[in-house]
Amino acid sequence: MQDIFAVNEGHAGENAELFKRKGVFVINLMASPGAGKTSFILGTISGLRERYKIAVIEGDLASKVDSERIRSQGVQSIQINTGGGCHLEANMIKQAIKHLDLDGIDLLIIENVGNLVCPADFSLGESARVVILSVPEGDDKPLKYPFIFQRCDVLVVNKIDMLELTDFNMKRLEDVMRNLNSDVKILLLSCRTASGLDAWIDWVEKELNREGDIG
Ligand code: MG
Ligand code: ZN
Repeated sequence: MQDIFAVNEGHAGENAELFKRKGVFVINLMASPGAGKTSFILGTISGLRERYKIAVIEGDLASKVDSERIRSQGVQSIQINTGGGCHLEANMIKQAIKHLDLDGIDLLIIENVGNLVCPADFSLGESARVVILSVPEGDDKPLKYPFIFQRCDVLVVNKIDMLELTDFNMKRLEDVMRNLNSDVKILLLSCRTASGLDAWIDWVEKELNREGDIG
């Protein structure tokens, strides 16, 4: 296992260097199946597409449904079918980005395979790790899967329009997160109603401008 991680870190480092050189901000988006990753990506696209060039890499066990939804928005999307593999690895990204013109891209969103466990162990060369937790999943997920929540830069709590229908306790979630990951940014939103999405768009835009300053 040690070897697998070391090899992955090598590829991830090369990806990160290439992204930096090309001025691409890369988001590794992780969540359980059904948390709303693809809807979140679609909301992000509609908030930023007029000012930035965006591309998406979709990691999926088998289907092409998600990348077709993205493509219907006029955004370049590459599908990686992991053939049953439960996470993306840096080498898969390295191969996939050969099909993208990185010079023409500001933001690359990578939708990882739906799973809160092993995607956390495999860096892809991303600039930021974003985890989505949806309200129906419950506020106890960070206690059950601490590693992925420990290592994320942003925690998006999605489907907040469903709060009243559940026992989800935001205060409990925030307390747990503060212990696990004191630097994390927590954003509450609903992709369905678009409420809170603007704060996320602002966050991405700040990061994109910061990248621009460096590169
Ligand atoms: Mg999806
Ligand atoms: Zn896995």
